[in-house]
Formats: sequence, structure tokens, C-alpha cells
Amino acid sequence: MLRYDLHSHSTHSDGLLTPTELVRRSAQRGVAVLALTDHDELSGLAEARAEARAAGIELVAGAELSVSWRSITLHVLALRVDPECPALCDGLAAIRAGRSARAQRIGDSLAAAGIPDAYAGALKFVTSERLISRTHFARFLVEAGHVRATKDVFQRYLVPGKPGHVEHDWAVLPDAIAWIHAASGQAVLAHPGRYKLDGDAMRELLAEFRAAGGDGIEVLSPSHSAAQVAEFARHARVFGLVASSGSDYHGPGESSCELGAMPPLPAGVAPVWQHW
Ligand code: AMP
Ligand code: MN
Ligand code: MN
Ligand code: MN
Repeated sequence: MLRYDLHSHSTHSDGLLTPTELVRRSAQRGVAVLALTDHDELSGLAEARAEARAAGIELVAGAELSVSWRSITLHVLALRVDPECPALCDGLAAIRAGRSARAQRIGDSLAAAGIPDAYAGALKFVTSERLISRTHFARFLVEAGHVRATKDVFQRYLVPGKPGHVEHDWAVLPDAIAWIHAASGQAVLAHPGRYKLDGDAMRELLAEFRAAGGDGIEVLSPSHSAAQVAEFARHARVFGLVASSGSDYHGPGESSCELGAMPPLPAGVAPVWQHW
């Protein structure tokens, strides 16, 4: 059985490792097929591909697209895309374009809650001038002593109802899926268990995702409990979606799951890689 890890981040978005370091670490951990899926970004893929060739592993060209659906943010993984596709490149550029102004509003919101200079503080953690994310604010809030660890930030800050949360319009779901398909890729709904949807809303989302041409759902994710893994495996079968697996790795000390450390997919689902 080949070891697949189809969700990871590098310094081209909010990961801590460069594409080269990420690919090397994956190879050391026994990953045979790695997808680099930086947020709204493809710029790390060329370096990752070169290192994958050297390390003898397969690199899947990917990205993780930010999407607004109803009042929430979804993440849609693009897997096996053509990174030169103009429709996808333009779509991602449009998503990224809103991030700086959003980050300044996050800074304003934190300032109103008594935490000054957070935008400048977050900028110090940015590793690609093309992309700032909440993760960079989380690292600032830890460094400034407001929270102990990055993962704990998202209970007290940066989420709906808490300081540092701002509304933002990302891409719409049909556009995101169309860009991925224009680039010959597969569209996979990332970590569905993170969206806090009740059963009816989740089924409505999956029906809409499927109707818009969506291909798969990420069944195995460190965001999911064992019960959620079983639930999303069931949804994959019912909605005719293929199943994906990824560690969502962001770097040493920041991720609960190591590269390639996901268990095998549950029985009865079709893996996203079945025709690769
Ligand atoms: P953004 O795309 O700017 O909204 O930032 C989203 C990123 O914040 C995610 O990709 C994660 O890296 C991080 N994040 C969001 N929620 C959590 C959480 N509960 N625990 C750890 N990281 C989180
Ligand atoms: Mn992230
Ligand atoms: Mn995500
Ligand atoms: Mn991710």
C-alpha cells in the first residue's frame, strides 16, 4: 500500500517548512505521494516538484481554495491541477487579493479588543509577500503572550463572536470548482467536520457540492473524530464522492498529525487516487 498525504502547507502560505523541507520530511516519513496544497496559492509547486524528483516521491500539484458558502468559510482542495491554467491562476489571484485588506481589518478588530499593532506583528511571521492568513496572527498572539499555543488561539480569537473575527467574501463554490476543473483537477471538500453544520445543513452542502461538479470529500483529517470519519465515509458513498486523506500538516510543533501519519481509508469508499 502506497502512503498518500494529500493535504499540506509550506512557507508559500501558512506552513513553517519550505517546499523543499516539506518534501524531504515527507520522504523521510515514508510518504509515497504528497500533495502540496497551499492556501489559494500554487507558487510553491515548482520547488516542491524539483525536490520530489530528487527524493524519489510523487508530488501532486494542489491548492486549498477559500470559499464562502452561506455564512461560513469552506475550504476546497484542488488536486492534480495544471498549475499553469489561466482560469485557476486568475481565480486564486482574485481570492488572494482580498487578504491584505482583511488582515488590516483583523488588526483593527484586535486593537479594539485591547491588542495593539497586531497587523504589523502578524506581518513579521509572513513568509510569502503574496499571502497573509489568520495563522500569522495566531503566531503573533502566541509570541506576544496572549495565548500559549497557536492551536489555542482559535478558541479565544479570530473566530466568529471573538476579537479578531471579521466577515469576508471569498470565492463562491461553483466558481472554485469550475476553476479546478478548468485546470483538469479534482475538487475535494476539505475537513468537512470543521464546519459545525448539523446533519441537514451538511447534506445540503454535499448535495450542492456534488451538483456543482465536486468530486470528493476529505474523509480522513486530523480535524475528524473516529465517528466523523465513519460519518463522512457514509456520506461519500451516498453522494457518490471519492474519499481523500490528508494530514493538513503546517510544520513541526504546530500540527497534531505528522506528514503521512493518517490511518488507511475506511473500507467501502473509493479513494480519490483510484484512477491516478
Ligand atoms: P485564513 O485562511 O486566513 O482564514 O486562515 C485559516 C488558517 O488558520 C487555517 O488554514 C489553519 O491553518 C488556521 N486555523 C484555523 N482554525 C484553526 C484551529 N481551530 N486550530 C488550528 N489552526 C486553525
Ligand atoms: Mn492553514
Ligand atoms: Mn483548511
Ligand atoms: Mn489546510
